[in-house]
Amino acid sequence: MKIRSIRAFEIRSDLTGGPPSTPQRRPAWTADAEVASPMSRHDRFKRLRSSWRPAWPSVGCLVTAEDGRWGFGMSRYGPPVIAIINGHLGPLLEGEPAMATERLWDMMQGMTSPYGGGLSCYAVSAIDLALWDLKGKILGQPVYALIGGPLREHIDCYATGNDTDWYLEQGFTATKLACPYGPADGERGLALNEQLVAERRALVGDSVDLMLDCWMAFDVDYSVRLAERLRPFRLRWMEDCLLPEDLDGLRSLRQRLPGLTLAGGEHWYTIPPYAQAAAGRLLDIVQPDIGWAGGLTGCLRIAQLAQAFGQSVILHAGVNTPYGQHFSLAVPNCPMGEYFIGSAPGVPFEEVRLTPGMQVPVAGRVRPTDEPGFGLGLTLADIEALAPGR
Ligand SMILES: [Mg+2]
Repeated sequence: MKIRSIRAFEIRSDLTGGPPSTPQRRPAWTADAEVASPMSRHDRFKRLRSSWRPAWPSVGCLVTAEDGRWGFGMSRYGPPVIAIINGHLGPLLEGEPAMATERLWDMMQGMTSPYGGGLSCYAVSAIDLALWDLKGKILGQPVYALIGGPLREHIDCYATGNDTDWYLEQGFTATKLACPYGPADGERGLALNEQLVAERRALVGDSVDLMLDCWMAFDVDYSVRLAERLRPFRLRWMEDCLLPEDLDGLRSLRQRLPGLTLAGGEHWYTIPPYAQAAAGRLLDIVQPDIGWAGGLTGCLRIAQLAQAFGQSVILHAGVNTPYGQHFSLAVPNCPMGEYFIGSAPGVPFEEVRLTPGMQVPVAGRVRPTDEPGFGLGLTLADIEALAPGR
């Protein structure tokens, strides 16, 4: 079975048919919560990440086999990623064997190597996920079965976001906060960060895991100072403390915070940074995003590498897509799944899911369906409606 065509396009509309119908109880934390970031020292852009991040839409990638069967992948950063797929990788892969995911992934790595980097990895991811969806449909199997699962009956999920009371009500027993302040906010910011974590620990009690996401906002010194202040609140882990390229910084953080569990890697692309972090034992938990770091093929390689060095893999926002759910059900060293909650308290998760076939956590657990491929629940007509005249 050969590939007939590979086409990428912008996803501008909701794949599940519109905004939620249930009224919100209050606006979501994402509406106005300040989150520390690498832009926090620039006053114009400090308050909200949306003020400086690109407004590029998401990317859909449709791979069609010569018999008309198809698979669908998704990623981010629309125009440049679409250009890489439609202007480079897609035409070169047409006519190649559609089931040969290792071969095709290796070819894509080679083809993008002269310009490489993050954006090419988003394009590789979208194509790879579409190929696995197609492979599952051709074989009549869910992807988790194709990769050797299930390893577990369900995925234990943790909720990411700052509407902690809502997550407790929904039955989550682990939750991660976005850290509001960083080095630019000085001593007052340190105190306010401590106050937030203290309040949330008091709210969740002793039996719920509490984590802190620092979204690349800190340096080593600030990370150490904040971590020392937060010791009484028993964080399960601190995440993404430093700029992604700063592996030497991670080594230093490890030495200065020997008792703290460190997580990171959601902004790493291709395999080498994960290999360095594994071999150097720089992190306890690596968090590739299946739509960014090289698709399912890339994340399976990362997981096996991590397992050899005693690391866990907990995908970035892994429960927010059917792609991540299939990985998380099947991979041995994947103990939990992240469910990022940007929707408002009161709105049922079914009303904000990514695709109609996607399952959402109930009482902090989820299991993808047994539908072939990733069980996206989309028809070709749904996808063609996204890209008229494709
Ligand atoms: Mg994160």
